[in-house]
Amino acid sequence: MKTLPPGLHVAATPIGNLGDVSDRLRQALEQADRILCEDTRVTGKLISALGLIKQPLTAYHEHSASELRPRIIAELEDGGRIVLVSDAGTPLISDPGYKIVRDARDAGIKVFSIAGPSALTAALSIAGAPTDRFSFLGFMPRADGQRATLLRSVMSRAETLAFYETGPRISASLAAVAEVLGNRTVSVARELTKLHEEVIEGEAAELSSRFADHPPKGEMVVLIHPGQAEALDLDQVLTDLLATKSVREASKEAAELTGLAKKDCYARALELKETTG
Ligand code: SAM
Repeated sequence: MKTLPPGLHVAATPIGNLGDVSDRLRQALEQADRILCEDTRVTGKLISALGLIKQPLTAYHEHSASELRPRIIAELEDGGRIVLVSDAGTPLISDPGYKIVRDARDAGIKVFSIAGPSALTAALSIAGAPTDRFSFLGFMPRADGQRATLLRSVMSRAETLAFYETGPRISASLAAVAEVLGNRTVSVARELTKLHEEVIEGEAAELSSRFADHPPKGEMVVLIHPGQAEALDLDQVLTDLLATKSVREASKEAAELTGLAKKDCYARALELKETTG
């Protein structure tokens, strides 16, 4: 008899260590009428490694699923038990799933969480960076301009900033961190839950040069620790100054007050001016 209730089950899978598979995940994979996954080979391997009976696997890619989604919703409305997984970790966290969850909720279907591993929370839980508040930036953009814009938009947040990165690009990303945010302490949490799990901590500029010739191998999450300059909220400082001063004057003064680079304060002042008019 099936004990898995009808509905959409959003299920986290291991990020490297099969020992992290829970009884609930096993049960869901075994009792699903259909498993939605990113790559049927990857999920097929997981199911074989766990020694489970293979249920129908359907590849689900958010951008190409506009026809598939209504069919899935119809199956759910008929009382189907559908499990959504990604290749590794928690679906929807830099992975597909948002639209199917949204559609299921709009259709009044029960959406269940089969909670488990995520590289983001695993990194935060062991790196020793402050976690009372944090922002997750997803994957750091590849283009220099987009990367700088993103970093500028969060430069005044007095909290840990987390992002996903790959070995070949980490040096350039950390150089941008040092340039826009100042030389902050950074933790690189790599190969989480695997044999070579480690956290490398250092100053952004120093790690950037170290990784230029020897990029770290495997998968990684980067955590930027909050900086001193953030004691003063840049957006607040700029907003106050812009009430009476030009963008140029306000950014010059904000740079002196916060210790942040003049050009970054200027760019942020322009952005604030544009959004507030
Ligand atoms: N949804 C997943 C999650 O919750 O962990 C993340 C999916 S995202 C497409 C993949 C990225 O997560 C990798 O490029 C890497 O930055 C990070 N990641 C995944 N597994 C990891 C691990 N074992 N150790 C460190 N980072 C990992």
